[in-house]
Amino acid sequence: MLTLKFGGTSMGNARRILDSVEIMIGRAKTDRISVVVSAVAGVSNSLQAAIDTCVAGGAAAPCVEAIRKTHEDICAELQSALRGFNAESVMKQIEPNFAELEKLLSGVASFGECPTSIHCRIMGMGELCCCPMVYAVLTAKGQSVLLLDSRKFIFTTGDQKEGDPDYAKTSEAFGPYRDGVEKDQARILLLPGFVCGWYSHSDSKPVMGLLGRNGSDFSAAIVAASLDAKKAEFWTDVDGIYTADPRIVSDAILVQDMTYEEAMELSFFGSKVLHPKTLAPLAAKNIEAWSLNSHNPSARGTRIGRGPYKSEDEVGPVRGISCLKGTAMISVSGSGMKDRTGIASRIFAAVSRGGISMLLITQSSSEYTISFCVRQSEAQKVNDILSAEFDIEIRDKIINPIDVRENCAIVSIVGDGMKQNRGVAGKFFDALASRGINILAIAQGSSERSISCVILGSDGDMAVRTAHLFFFNTAQTVEVFAFGAGTIGGALLDQIGEQQKDLRAQNIDIKVMAIANVDGMLLDPNGVKLSTWREDIKKSNKKTNLDEILAFVKESKPLNPIFVDCTASYDLPERYLDILKAGMHIATPNKRANSMTMDFYHQLRKTANEMHRRFLYETNVGAGLPIIDTLQNLFKSGDKLTGFNGIMSGSLSYIFGRLDEGVSFSKAVLEAKEKRFTEPDPRDDLKGTDVARKALIIAREAGMSIELSDIKMNSIFPKDFNVEGTTEEFIKRLPELDSYFADLMKKLSKDKKVLRMGASIKDGKVSVGMLEVGPDDPLYGVRGGENAFVFQTARYTPIPLTVRGYGAGAGVTAAGVFGDILRTVSFNPEMK
Ligand code: ADP
Ligand code: MG
Repeated sequence: MLTLKFGGTSMGNARRILDSVEIMIGRAKTDRISVVVSAVAGVSNSLQAAIDTCVAGGAAAPCVEAIRKTHEDICAELQSALRGFNAESVMKQIEPNFAELEKLLSGVASFGECPTSIHCRIMGMGELCCCPMVYAVLTAKGQSVLLLDSRKFIFTTGDQKEGDPDYAKTSEAFGPYRDGVEKDQARILLLPGFVCGWYSHSDSKPVMGLLGRNGSDFSAAIVAASLDAKKAEFWTDVDGIYTADPRIVSDAILVQDMTYEEAMELSFFGSKVLHPKTLAPLAAKNIEAWSLNSHNPSARGTRIGRGPYKSEDEVGPVRGISCLKGTAMISVSGSGMKDRTGIASRIFAAVSRGGISMLLITQSSSEYTISFCVRQSEAQKVNDILSAEFDIEIRDKIINPIDVRENCAIVSIVGDGMKQNRGVAGKFFDALASRGINILAIAQGSSERSISCVILGSDGDMAVRTAHLFFFNTAQTVEVFAFGAGTIGGALLDQIGEQQKDLRAQNIDIKVMAIANVDGMLLDPNGVKLSTWREDIKKSNKKTNLDEILAFVKESKPLNPIFVDCTASYDLPERYLDILKAGMHIATPNKRANSMTMDFYHQLRKTANEMHRRFLYETNVGAGLPIIDTLQNLFKSGDKLTGFNGIMSGSLSYIFGRLDEGVSFSKAVLEAKEKRFTEPDPRDDLKGTDVARKALIIAREAGMSIELSDIKMNSIFPKDFNVEGTTEEFIKRLPELDSYFADLMKKLSKDKKVLRMGASIKDGKVSVGMLEVGPDDPLYGVRGGENAFVFQTARYTPIPLTVRGYGAGAGVTAAGVFGDILRTVSFNPEMK
């Protein structure tokens, strides 16, 4: 005997039902099988919604009609796909269910409430309707099937909605159906999941009860145990059990084998793969459980059994991460508790008398607080119970009023091997801390097989993703939000598009979630398509809106989001603090943020630190040249800047280089303008303000506290020269300067010197202007648009550290920004 369970995901539509039936038939070739089926996907939710509607006074008929239609459509499809399947006759069989459903729901609507017994009869309807369809498919395919009504086989007591099985009685009912007990037994036993026969005391007549939400897994386990099955297979829509919910962690790893205890702990702490009670009856009888994919039946699946398994060594001590949402943390505290014995036992007894189970318990010794978690729906009841229990103590101020914290989540890491491994807990807490997730309480399972943290519910998904990253370190992710997609931004997006695949091979998963420019904005949680973004953004009807991006990040909590500002915007940098606070890194070639006040400069860094995010701006100075990072490393390791000279503008490098060759100043400027080395108005370059900003950034890197206005600007223009007027007027006037520069050059050439325009830092002062440079100076040969940075430091002396190369251009700048983006993933949360 084999037991197979097919969940709603395997009963979603006619195609799925047919596929699932093929799996049953395949298994029935070698073994007798018992099959437990759930309701058609979505029907259980519709039933719950119908109850809610009717309790609120809504009409029953439309709800019933919708559910009938779901089944009618599937039957019609089955009929057209399968000869011998008669839709009308199947619908006739399940029709009485709809009639009853309508009667029950109308009652609920007129009374405005839904008592437990009615709730059970309504909620079980999905399974009762699904079974006859599967039965008809099996018989149309010539199988020998026996449909058993679970209400007459699986018996429970206790809670009608979530009963405890009476195994003796259940086993007795299944007696005749065990292998070899009778002759001519059916090959296939088919049973509806979830429903059972419940009785309030041993001699009362069983009525319809349920096995708890998602209880079909439990049904199958009870059936398997009662029929002495050799194996129980749970068919769903994923290839098995993963290290985390694959819907939350896209690169979760499929686990080959798992022990009963691990699987129990995982499901207890919220993994939806199997109902928490499922494994106990199987473990008691040593029946192996398999988690399999009905959409991909050839996949091996995950085995759950006694263990230990060889595959355990491959994954490491942690085997799974789960998250249980919708919980509340209750805390009982008070200064008087220390001196009183028996408080803990009174808490536990009172809560247990209320029929409420605690999910997790922690106690702090210093403050004397006992905290525990329960399901949120039970929080109010627990509060009432404990407030009554400790009424006197609370009045006497021995105990504080009961504290209830709602909307919590319990994140747990689970693995048998955690016992022998040190440092697992530390790594778990580090992972949460790295994202600034506040841990409200910590508990370790008594078996040392699990460690759980209570956190805010809204942090749940992020906690799972981060912990998964730390423990399984598969792909590292980075989610790019690109603001500004002009020359640099566009080049960057192209570079990302080209590299995406190669990076993926190196386990770096880079996704562009948003692109915003003047045309509009693309925002796609699955990643913007980089091959067509230029056309798509023109068609987009979304307006560029930073707040929408921030809201998106706060809501969807990507693991490693980075805001890339490729605009030349003056205002956007003022919002960097908001961006960091939303949890994003920032990378930008925009110099504005770093050249605002010292106060803002510090605030930016402080906020980034607090948020555990990075502010990256390698391209602020020298585009793609490694300047900022080099300086930071120097100074971090204790070096000191003693002097600096630099040519930090491609256009000025070109213009002054041409003077060496005897070209007149006006001609040199015009050439540079034609080559688009200068800004549209060459004065923007010649005045040196941009150079000043770069010098300011270098000076600040070196630890100087300095404002832009502190920089001494030595104009390259003679005093009597008129720099005002329109661009055209200015350009027309340029030849007036030719003789001035020619004279200067002549004077210098006597000492074999040349003229350069750049910035200097010396004795705590920063200046911008012309430098007279001799042949031994590293700046001597720098021309033609090249940049050069010459750092004199305590260690680099007398020969300075010099960095030279192209310091402008969309391609190299974009590459520099790309490098910054990758810095956010280069950290390695030390593996396993
Ligand atoms: P069924 O209707 O077949 O019972 P469920 O939807 O109840 O299926 O359970 C299957 C789903 O459980 C998967 O689609 C998956 O998203 C979710 N799930 C949660 N945690 C895990 C995990 N650790 N491994 C695999 N699936 C998981
Ligand atoms: Mg399920």
